[in-house]
Amino acid sequence: AKYTKNDILRMAEEEDVEFIRLQFTDMFGTMKNIAIPFSRLEKAMNNECVIDASSIESFYRNEEEDMYLYPDPDTFCILPWRPQQGKVARLICDIYRADGTPHKGSPRYILKQAVKAAAEKGYSFKVNPECEFFLFHTDDNGRPTTLTHEQAGYMDLSPVDFGENARRDIVLTLEEMGYDVESSHHEISPAQHEIDFSMADVMETADKFMSFKVAVRTVAKRHGLHATFMPKPRGEVNGSGMHINMALYKNGKNIFADSEDALGLSREAYSFIAGIFTHIKGMTAFFNPLVNSYKRLVPGFEAPSDITWSSTQRTALLKVCQDRRRECQIELRSPDPSANPYVVFALCLAAGIQGIEENLQPSSELKVGIRELSEEEKLEQGIQSLPATLNEALHELEQDEWIAGVVGVPFLECYIKSKRKEWKSYEKQVSEWELAQYLYQI
Ligand code: GLU
Ligand code: MG
Ligand code: MG
Repeated sequence: AKYTKNDILRMAEEEDVEFIRLQFTDMFGTMKNIAIPFSRLEKAMNNECVIDASSIESFYRNEEEDMYLYPDPDTFCILPWRPQQGKVARLICDIYRADGTPHKGSPRYILKQAVKAAAEKGYSFKVNPECEFFLFHTDDNGRPTTLTHEQAGYMDLSPVDFGENARRDIVLTLEEMGYDVESSHHEISPAQHEIDFSMADVMETADKFMSFKVAVRTVAKRHGLHATFMPKPRGEVNGSGMHINMALYKNGKNIFADSEDALGLSREAYSFIAGIFTHIKGMTAFFNPLVNSYKRLVPGFEAPSDITWSSTQRTALLKVCQDRRRECQIELRSPDPSANPYVVFALCLAAGIQGIEENLQPSSELKVGIRELSEEEKLEQGIQSLPATLNEALHELEQDEWIAGVVGVPFLECYIKSKRKEWKSYEKQVSEWELAQYLYQI
């Protein structure tokens, strides 16, 4: 650990921190927090802060049970958007039960276990998510819309683009919080932006991704804009993905690279890809957790819909990086930013390592755009599709027992139950599309 309890107490005092937010992430990737005044920081650092877990659905505890927050001192960070006198800091916490054992339903615990299992085999894992989101206008009542003044088609070049100013402010805020932002740019759709972190330790990155979302929303709001990480807010343009660049290390060395190979990839890299592909269908229920996620995974919008890998095709599910000046990495393109990063990263790591251990080989590389292939050709080449709906993904999740081993059975059961409810509620809806299509003609 970088910091001790005393470091935190000292830093908070020196920085004139008045409130501390103790934060954790629930099963669905939503950040929760309780605020404590500075006077309770010592108590919190002694792991004595209690939450009533029975009211957090995803903690799957019906009976009343108190759980304890164990702040991770290394996550201490001052929130730049709060007052600078009487500052507010955050600490990300692990969740423990009263008997002193970790709560296995905490996503951070799930990732920790995956990292630990990998470390026991000598591996460490770095990731770099590419986070896409939209900045939309709010209406007169402050409610979010899907409208943008960029609609006229000016894209990102206008000097008076509110979005550009907001993005600049977001990046500056992130840097103030200690983020190493690799780049940011306007994405393809109007009002769509992307911010890329640099390659870093997986746990650190998962924590950062959670706070990133809060920072983006908060700063956007200051600019009168609504930031959304909804995967497909507008049907006619690209949705938002959370592509994940990944690299695996052994003894500090990137083991995905092999200069002898035509694509510069090692045996381990190919097996890692194959491991992910083995479980991709079931994992999709976590990578793309919303009903809406599947509206993004359709052909024609640069998001993947088939299980393919490629060194040249952008629409492949997994893209291998051919630029030898850069660190060797592979990019998984299906996850979207509504996913829980802890669970997504844990699954990628565990599946990849299983691929290596079992010496799995991926299917052959996709060399043409997937849309150039007919259904017959896809069938011939053994190309399978990702689940097309949340319902299908949940079905696949239930079929893949290996996933339960990574996330734990109670977590999995609670997730499936809750997501099935979401699907059922969606199924009952009569959509605008149906009315437009059928109301008059039928
Ligand atoms: N927005 C696209 C997606 O849904 C990706 C565009 C890109 O290649 O960055 O994944
Ligand atoms: Mg992008
Ligand atoms: Mg990408």
